[in-house]
Amino acid sequence: MAKDSQTSRYDILFEPMRIGPKLAKNRFYQVPHCNGGGYRDPSAVAEMRRTKAEGGWGVIFTEQTEIHPSSEITPFIEQHLWEDKDIPALAAMTEAMKSHGALAGIQLAYSGINGPNLYSREVPLAVTGGPILTFTSDPVQARTMDREDIRDLRRWFRAAFRRSQAAGFDLICLYGAHGFGILQHFLSRATNHRTDEYGGSLENRSRFLREIIEDAREETKGELAITLRLSLHEAGSFGFSNAELRDFIEMHGDLPDLWDLAHGTWEACSGTSRFAAEGAQEDLVRGIKALTSKPVVGVGRFTSADAMVRQITSGVLDFIGAARPSIADPFLPKKIEEGRFDDIRECIGCNICVSGDMTGAISRCTQNTAFMEEWRKGWHPERPRAKGASDTVLVVGAGPAGLEAALQAARRGYQVTLAEAGTTLGGRVARERGLPGLSAWGRVADYRIGQLAPLTNVQIYRDSPLTPEDVLGLGAQHVAIATGASWRRDAVARLHLHPIPTDARMPVFTPDDVMAGQGPTGGRVMLYDDDHFYMGSVIAEALVAQGCTVDFVTPAAKLAEWSENTLEQAIIMRRLLGLGVRVQCNTAPEAIGPAEVTLACTWTGATHRIAADAVVMVTARQPHDALFQALKARQPDWQAAGVISVKLIGDAAAPGPIAWATYAGRRFAEEIDTTDDRGDTPAFRREIAGLEPGPSRLP
Ligand code: ADP
Ligand code: SF4
Repeated sequence: MAKDSQTSRYDILFEPMRIGPKLAKNRFYQVPHCNGGGYRDPSAVAEMRRTKAEGGWGVIFTEQTEIHPSSEITPFIEQHLWEDKDIPALAAMTEAMKSHGALAGIQLAYSGINGPNLYSREVPLAVTGGPILTFTSDPVQARTMDREDIRDLRRWFRAAFRRSQAAGFDLICLYGAHGFGILQHFLSRATNHRTDEYGGSLENRSRFLREIIEDAREETKGELAITLRLSLHEAGSFGFSNAELRDFIEMHGDLPDLWDLAHGTWEACSGTSRFAAEGAQEDLVRGIKALTSKPVVGVGRFTSADAMVRQITSGVLDFIGAARPSIADPFLPKKIEEGRFDDIRECIGCNICVSGDMTGAISRCTQNTAFMEEWRKGWHPERPRAKGASDTVLVVGAGPAGLEAALQAARRGYQVTLAEAGTTLGGRVARERGLPGLSAWGRVADYRIGQLAPLTNVQIYRDSPLTPEDVLGLGAQHVAIATGASWRRDAVARLHLHPIPTDARMPVFTPDDVMAGQGPTGGRVMLYDDDHFYMGSVIAEALVAQGCTVDFVTPAAKLAEWSENTLEQAIIMRRLLGLGVRVQCNTAPEAIGPAEVTLACTWTGATHRIAADAVVMVTARQPHDALFQALKARQPDWQAAGVISVKLIGDAAAPGPIAWATYAGRRFAEEIDTTDDRGDTPAFRREIAGLEPGPSRLP
């Protein structure tokens, strides 16, 4: 769709906007976001940011950049700006960020009470000393800074300002949000118990901020814009509340060149779609613009152009801040500008990207399969690789893996046949989108089905369960088997590696049954979760909605423990307890009787019994690889049938989260007509640490 008068109401999003001494070309503001690459993968991060520049963002930020070794957050991998040696990697990033007229911003962080210094081994310094506050409860305390330490910190910040300018940044963001940055620790009475001129009154707690902003302006000669990223609301009786933030902004309205406001904790700010709607922070930010003459940016997982326009025209925000929407679709601004709304790849709010940072891996995105593979593999979020020598591709199964494989292969120019056994396209996503809170996940299917529809080189067959004969008969040169997986019924997963004794009279269900509307519809249900991500808890919610009483049994010490990585664990716990679900951690079923389950403590083995009318197993999944195995057995027939390669992808190869399946689909399509060295060399480029010349320093 070309740009027409209908799109003019979005023009307001493309107005140039002043930020102190700098001019942003539009209101699209990519707020700082982690990516799991950080200092370890500088080129991968730079190339990822380049796609945002290309996609039309007016402002692009780095992730958290640690300014000094006395405050670092290992095991999380962010950026470093500790010495001049760190400048070249960041200069490469600014070059990429500014390549299409965007402003380049750096977020500077000193983590204080949030930095355990596991790598640098320095004693952590905090506004007020105490145990380090992190996700991992590191057994480390920080020391309270004295006046000399504060002077040191100001000097270290000055060095970081100087280095940021040398690296070519236009904007410096001072981090005081999510509980992570020392600026917030100064402001908040929860973390600031000082009795000197830096503690007590709000005026005093603001002192360090005033000093540091003055230092920043002086050090950069007023040439850079200085922004402040603050929490909109810190919970708790001593927290820096929304009311206090408003007082602070009223007192210091003109202090920074822009106010960047983000909800309290990271969990609250980066809420998943299961628990937070688009624009969920609006109540906290509304009215703040009236307190300052400086522009205000806020976030809210904005993917709808209309919602963005409303934020501006109703006077809530000046800039549309986005992290996850910019990850899922780096070309979001460009697509809105060109009126290509149907082409927007909307973030589904799953926080798989966050999990990449939380696990010290490199981040991935369920929707944007190219994310963080731009440099490593040369994958582009929009531009396809040229077609290779062959012509035809068959994809069997239209789940996330199959849909992505078909779409990416078609974009490359292959003739694609997509065969799906069922009537509905989308595979697991078509089913899971019906579970409580997961409707936005349907975007994984909707986006791909929408993109496939107009392509003339794709043929889609529904109600077509293919046999090996069918596949060979179709004679496509490259075949992807994306036939998915189903949940096991026999308790096998991590704790039980073999089935447990089960009385045939006890009805045992799986998530597949519940999603098909064939689960228990009442009575007392023992749900056994040895999967540990979201599925157990959403099934529990669905069962409660069906009128069941649920005993949630898990061998883990925490319910849904992997969802800690998507920032959801605490919210899930609260939700289930609120629904009256009885949670038994460190426990697993040992035997299932006709009307009861024998449970055992995973530490002591002590057993107890609970009555149950039904059991639901959320355990391992069984890959559907029979079609692939049958085709492999017939490899001698491939040549006569015209088949060059057959690959097993997605859940059919190894069940995992949806992002793993879309990635597998992309990889299949990218690797068509390439030579397969069967893993003899890494499938991606990587950077390794440069060796430091110099003699040994041993005595
Ligand atoms: P993934 O997450 O790997 O994409 P899914 O389970 O979501 O896996 O999707 C697999 C899809 O494959 C399902 O929609 C299923 O109906 C389909 N399917 C399974 N076996 C066949 C087959 N033999 N022929 C065609 N489609 C199949
Ligand atoms: Fe959005 Fe999920 Fe992608 Fe993160 S991983 S950007 S939450 S779709």
